[in-house]
Amino acid sequence: MALKNSKEYIASIEALGLEAQVMGKKVGNHTQHPMIRPSLQAVAITFDGPHDEDPELRKLFRVKSSLTGEEINRFTHLHQSTEDLIDKVKMQRHYGSQTGCCFQRCVGMDAANAAFSVTYECDQKHGTVYHERFRQFWQRVQSEDLVVDGAMTDPKGDRGKRPGEQADPDQYLRVVERRDDGIVVRGAKLHQTGMLNSHEMIVMPTLTMRPGEEEYAVCFALPTDSEGLHYIYGRQASDTRKVEDQPIDVGNSCFGGQEVMTIFDDVFVPTERIFMDGEVEFSGQLVERFASYHRQSYGGCKSGVGDILIGATALIAKMNGVDKASHVRDKIVEMIHLNETLFACGIACSSQGYQRPAGNYEIDSLLANVCKLNVTRFPYELARLATDLAGGLIGTLPAAKDLDDPVTGPYIRKYLTAVEGVDPIDRMKVLRLIENLVVGAGSVAYLVESMHGAGPPMAQRIMIARQAQLDRKIEKVESLLGL
Ligand code: SF4
Ligand code: FE
Repeated sequence: MALKNSKEYIASIEALGLEAQVMGKKVGNHTQHPMIRPSLQAVAITFDGPHDEDPELRKLFRVKSSLTGEEINRFTHLHQSTEDLIDKVKMQRHYGSQTGCCFQRCVGMDAANAAFSVTYECDQKHGTVYHERFRQFWQRVQSEDLVVDGAMTDPKGDRGKRPGEQADPDQYLRVVERRDDGIVVRGAKLHQTGMLNSHEMIVMPTLTMRPGEEEYAVCFALPTDSEGLHYIYGRQASDTRKVEDQPIDVGNSCFGGQEVMTIFDDVFVPTERIFMDGEVEFSGQLVERFASYHRQSYGGCKSGVGDILIGATALIAKMNGVDKASHVRDKIVEMIHLNETLFACGIACSSQGYQRPAGNYEIDSLLANVCKLNVTRFPYELARLATDLAGGLIGTLPAAKDLDDPVTGPYIRKYLTAVEGVDPIDRMKVLRLIENLVVGAGSVAYLVESMHGAGPPMAQRIMIARQAQLDRKIEKVESLLGL
């Protein structure tokens, strides 16, 4: 069955029975955990799109597989044209503006598109069989409509030292044993977006490896319920509000992100799941291609979340009775301008995409890096403007529970009433949503991830410098001036 619905997806994750360490406790039924459930629901949304009642919208979410010819979810697609790349960004904006958070499923899609082309090129050079293995693996992902995490970021220990120079060699994930039927790996991957909501993961090196670092130049796929994997749940600002059973205080009680520290304690990887093993010169290509795809992704998802923040800011201005003030309108326009610039870069790098020898399409890397560098800045300015227009209440609002108290409840309702006819409770909900995105649990995806996800700003600056063709610009000046 190529297209699951959200219920089937949730049931399939429950059936995996993954265990995780959450706030000091081992949790077995994590899908029911109040801190985790919203993140599962955010991924589940991506299974509803292909079944949307609107046939036009459905087209954005379901697409014909290049491997099987079947209709599949776009999240498992290998992009076959620049239109596909553009539709990917549009889809991400759609889900971002539906959930107001990270819906986690893009990492595997980006890892797959990078691994598909890199394995092909590696096979051409080395006579290896990685590409065929990857096709087999990905065909199953498509036909079973699986969620795949992309695991890249190693802990890295002392940043001034190479992997092999670390006091603790496990700071970079590596092969520790070779068997006839596969390899055994040890290490950890940090910041694993949506790992517990995934069926599978693609593990990649974290940086360009050099000769002598072969045991670190490894790429493979693993089911998330493999033996030897340990999951430690990441905390987010105000996350325990989710366990208080007070949805107003959470801000966005339906959806949320998920970040997990993943430990590989001597995990066995069968040969048919290995897609790179020691080909150091291809490790950098895998890292860069994955990073470029994910930098494109942010032009979609972050502008979608930006839609929610802009909408909430415009609404609170209205609820406060200041929406007609010229400076308020101008600040909203500024927010829209910044947000659409993010989206424009995501669309631009897609429209300038090109085909790799393996057949799938890749974005223009320079423009994808410009896209992500903007993402490291603009959401912060959007958050600043939202904080400005929302007013101090996003930092001082009483608890929702105090609304139930016979003495304080009426006071809160009376003194939080602004424009006549606006329910003060609705006003509290909008303020809490803004709080969620600018300083609460939602700020992890909207701000911290905008800075560091797919690499920090310096990583984009390095790529921009490398691809800017500064010499050509100088030559043009020389030619213009006849120098
Ligand atoms: Fe997708 Fe954005 Fe989350 Fe990355 S941060 S997984 S691109 S929603
Ligand atoms: Fe991310």
